[in-house]
Amino acid sequence: MNEEMDQNWQALSQEILLGMKAWRLAHPKATLREIEQEVNARMDRLGAQLVQDAAQASSTTEWTTQPVSQRPTCSKCGTPLVSRGSRSRRLQSRGGQSVELKRSYGVCPTCGVGLFPLDHELDVQEGSLTPAQQERLILLASWMPFARACEMMTHLLGVHVSEATTRRHTYTAGNAYEAIQTAQASDDAAPVESSAVPAPMMVSPDGALVPLVDGVWGEVKAAFLALSM
Ligand SMILES: [Zn+2]
Repeated sequence: MNEEMDQNWQALSQEILLGMKAWRLAHPKATLREIEQEVNARMDRLGAQLVQDAAQASSTTEWTTQPVSQRPTCSKCGTPLVSRGSRSRRLQSRGGQSVELKRSYGVCPTCGVGLFPLDHELDVQEGSLTPAQQERLILLASWMPFARACEMMTHLLGVHVSEATTRRHTYTAGNAYEAIQTAQASDDAAPVESSAVPAPMMVSPDGALVPLVDGVWGEVKAAFLALSM
């Protein structure tokens, strides 16, 4: 955590607090709903900046100047990575805000595997959503049709996501839970303590049309399980 970040955070905090005060002075008869909207918009902005700066405050963000022995290693063979420059990735946060991650890309000189070590450290999944937004999307999609879940994400969180993306994230979560169940079922000799097993947060079906035979389409139902991680 460097001094520049301290100063940036203080300046942004100050700007947001003073901005809210100025807005209130300019709107002396505002309703509570209007006040909440103004506060939330500012807090979303502050929150996204804090997440972005905190996420990048890691030695894994920019490691190209580090000694070879301290560089991130290949996940397959353990060889220190060779840098291939920096690239940015933008993730959607709540309230229409975004979190940008600028980090070094590395390639394994032995087996050719390429990766972003920071993404691995942060456990950032594929897609354009921050982990919190991704979890909310899966929760919503577990309760309602995918298209409706997309609408609710925009309405509630200011996050824009396609129906295809919603389907993909929900399928992935469902498959992950299925894998956990399968692993547990095949581990009868050493039962897992119940407290160590994530409890399913909800179960919900969704339908999709799939081609059957001779040009006939049929609707299949799939059940999805969202986990409390
Ligand atoms: Zn390798």
